[in-house]
Amino acid sequence: MRNIDGRAMGKAIGAEVTTAAAKLEAEGTSPTLAVVVPTNDEATAWYVRSIQRTAARVGVNCRIEQLSSPSVGELTAVLDRLSLDETVHGVICQTPLPEGATLAQVGEHIVPRKDVDGANPVSLGRLAAGMDTFAPATAAAVLEILKRENLDLSGKHVVVIGRSNVVGKPAALLLLAENATVTVCHSRTRDLAEVCARADVLVAAVGRAEMITGAHIKPGAVVVDVGTNPTDDGGLVGDVDADAIAERAGALTPVPGGVGPVTTMLLMRHTVDAAARQSG
Ligand code: NAP
Repeated sequence: MRNIDGRAMGKAIGAEVTTAAAKLEAEGTSPTLAVVVPTNDEATAWYVRSIQRTAARVGVNCRIEQLSSPSVGELTAVLDRLSLDETVHGVICQTPLPEGATLAQVGEHIVPRKDVDGANPVSLGRLAAGMDTFAPATAAAVLEILKRENLDLSGKHVVVIGRSNVVGKPAALLLLAENATVTVCHSRTRDLAEVCARADVLVAAVGRAEMITGAHIKPGAVVVDVGTNPTDDGGLVGDVDADAIAERAGALTPVPGGVGPVTTMLLMRHTVDAAARQSG
């Protein structure tokens, strides 16, 4: 089994984004991403720092809006303000959200033209309708990786495990638009291993450490592991047991170093694209 190098892909996309950001800057527009952080959660803080580092590398301004235990109303008021702020081109909101809030509910307060992580249900609807929109960066990363692997998805059987609005569902829609035959699995799916073992491409977006084993893999399958599960020693493992599938799979995105770096870089690409449209 071959490892798919997400860090190298992230770098390659980063070079394109850097050029596009510099061009905009020269034309008088500084591409700016606002990151709203409604939590003091340490894992979230770590992810936000990685977004800041990536933004600095490619020439995107990153504005952090740190909030401490906001109410839902306070959070949506910040998103409404950023949606109107002409110096901001992309807006994302981190989780965990205030008690009782859903991402779809909060995402409605990010105007679609700035919704670079596809949190507004309007963005998901536009994706479903085959219209131009920003897909959630993680879902977009799944497709980007498969394209950079030069995989022709037309007619291929792709199984996506997970049906969340931010990963599984939009990933399935993007893959369908590439003419893949897409099966979406979830917690109620019967005989999960058997369904997965028919997949030419398997996308795992569950959040259960190393649940995918050799029994889930068609020989030669390409496996995209979206899962990020913290370990007791402060590390990270995916949804896929890499050792267990090594004899059967053709290729795997490792965790860390697979989907993550591509996702963060696509957030930058989306922000630069949003800035170009808003300045044009
Ligand atoms: P989520 O909202 O919790 O959704 C998980 C999905 O997995 C649900 O659809 C759930 O089914 C399904 N599921 C749960 N247990 C299952 C089982 N035993 N068999 C089959 N399906 C099962 O999670 P998410 O936000 O989509 O994220 C998924 C994973 O991706 C997490 O590990 C998250 O940390 C990671 N992630 C990574 C990145 C990145 O950049 N690498 C970005 C975002 C998320 P039901 O719908 O039936 O409950």
